[in-house]
Amino acid sequence: MAVIRSINPSSGAELAAFEEDSDEFVESRIAAASAAVPLLAELGFAGRAERMRAAADLLESEADEVAAVITAEMGKPIAQARAEVAKSAYAMRFYADNAEKFLTGRELDDPAAVSASSARTSFEPMGVVLAVMPWNYPVWQVVRFAAPALMAGNAGLLKHASNVPQVAVYIGELFARADFPQGAFSTLLIAARRVEAVIRDPRIAAVTLTGSEAAGRSVGAAAGSVLKKAVLELGGSDPFIVMPSARLDAAVETAVRARTSNNGQACINAKRFIIHEDVYDQFSALFAERMAALVIGDPADDLTEIGPLATESGLRELEELVEDARVKGASVVTGGRRNDVAGGWYYTPTVIADITTDMRLYEEEAFGPVASMYKVASLDEALSVANDSPFGLGSAFWSTDADEIARAERGLESGAVFVNGMTISYPELPFGGIKRSGFGRELSVEGIREFCNLKTIWVA
Ligand code: NAP
Repeated sequence: MAVIRSINPSSGAELAAFEEDSDEFVESRIAAASAAVPLLAELGFAGRAERMRAAADLLESEADEVAAVITAEMGKPIAQARAEVAKSAYAMRFYADNAEKFLTGRELDDPAAVSASSARTSFEPMGVVLAVMPWNYPVWQVVRFAAPALMAGNAGLLKHASNVPQVAVYIGELFARADFPQGAFSTLLIAARRVEAVIRDPRIAAVTLTGSEAAGRSVGAAAGSVLKKAVLELGGSDPFIVMPSARLDAAVETAVRARTSNNGQACINAKRFIIHEDVYDQFSALFAERMAALVIGDPADDLTEIGPLATESGLRELEELVEDARVKGASVVTGGRRNDVAGGWYYTPTVIADITTDMRLYEEEAFGPVASMYKVASLDEALSVANDSPFGLGSAFWSTDADEIARAERGLESGAVFVNGMTISYPELPFGGIKRSGFGRELSVEGIREFCNLKTIWVA
């Protein structure tokens, strides 16, 4: 079996190495997950909620250590790693508090209309769900699947990204430590090519994937070939539109955070800045100045704002995207190159203008701190540029004009529109995309229902 390595992206140093799990071990995990499903049902909502709160307490009590591992394995600035852990514990409690309410079915008011004495719906767990997860929010992405899944009574198996094995092992043990039945949630340390066989196993009921389009295609195809439900949360190239009436200082300040949080490696980072011509020069100058002033360095340092990219291949891909645009005539306003801090995989925060449709940046997701600028003459043009993308995850719209806001809310083709703010995930709100950003929803009431059988019950 291959070895799965944990490598510190800020230095290239190996932190730990794990043997990939054998086929026999994977088999035993699937069997244990399957056996845990009736045990989860026996616990009921109250028993599962008690354990979910215990898991949240454990995670919180270990927050400093967990945040340090996140930062060491994937390079997120430490303050953001701590915030990720805190948000994850919050989401666990949110589902502990709300799952029963979210999964209460409804009684038909007029059962005679369907020739019944009574008719109702109920939400039943589907069984064992496989989660294939990315490294960029290595705890949060897992929790936002695991908390609703376990609270609904499903068991979970996690195939985490290969570059975050330490987090994968930690989180694979967390729920059992909080007294969930053995096997109810655990990690499989396996390479991506072994995912299809797990999906095909008859004991796996469904699959959820957060990751790239390529992974989405392959997991979606595998699930489709055996007719299993899939939720796919894929990439994004979110627009950030600024109209003349917007509060410019606030828009610039938010734009910098929206592009660079998580070192620019979030699906919902704003990536395309579509600015009305009346404020374009002013916005661009301030934005480029703030991007250039960000503190790059060791992500374990509290003062660092930009750490390294998580993988060397990610750094190479970002360089290629910028180079392609530069060769085809784009102007690099600031940045546009690697940054050799301590030999890690750093890329300088970059603003790039004069993008044309033949450039890869026009269509592709830039997964790192690279902002593309577009100048537009009207709201119609702004919406048309924003929607001329294969993706449709989030979008941000800045204006104080009520008519413009109403038109943008309706006209933006995306799973979310944030007005005078930046796209963020909240446990209280559904999250997901359209077009090649995927399908299905996570979080909130809609997310917990994705892996439930909505059963209709009719009584004569
Ligand atoms: P990735 O390479 O697709 O990896 C994501 C997960 O999928 C990893 O566990 C990976 O395993 C696995 N995987 C990759 N190829 C696979 C295949 N052919 N079959 C089965 N599993 C496969 O993506 P990434 O580079 O880690 O993450 C970045 C992408 O995720 C970006 O496009 C980003 O926008 C997207 N993302 C989306 C959301 C959202 O909610 N929409 C949130 C976060 C990130 P290995 O690591 O072993 O290859």
